[in-house]
Amino acid sequence: MDKPYDKKCIDCGELPPPTETNFTLISDRHGWRLRRYRNDAGKVLFEWRCPECWTRFRAAGGAVRQQ
Ligand SMILES: [Zn+2]
Repeated sequence: MDKPYDKKCIDCGELPPPTETNFTLISDRHGWRLRRYRNDAGKVLFEWRCPECWTRFRAAGGAVRQQ
């Protein structure tokens, strides 16, 4: 299926806590992060990361997953 994005951590596969909106999920309370990027075909994709993986991602300079 061609969903706009999978709402789970792209690094560890953890599912986010159930929230009413994405905005709630990325708030300080939950600490998840949504990153938007464009793939080679020019399609805009979304990556969710849990707080731990986001910390690792940033510590690595935001280049953990180069594709
Ligand atoms: Zn994770």
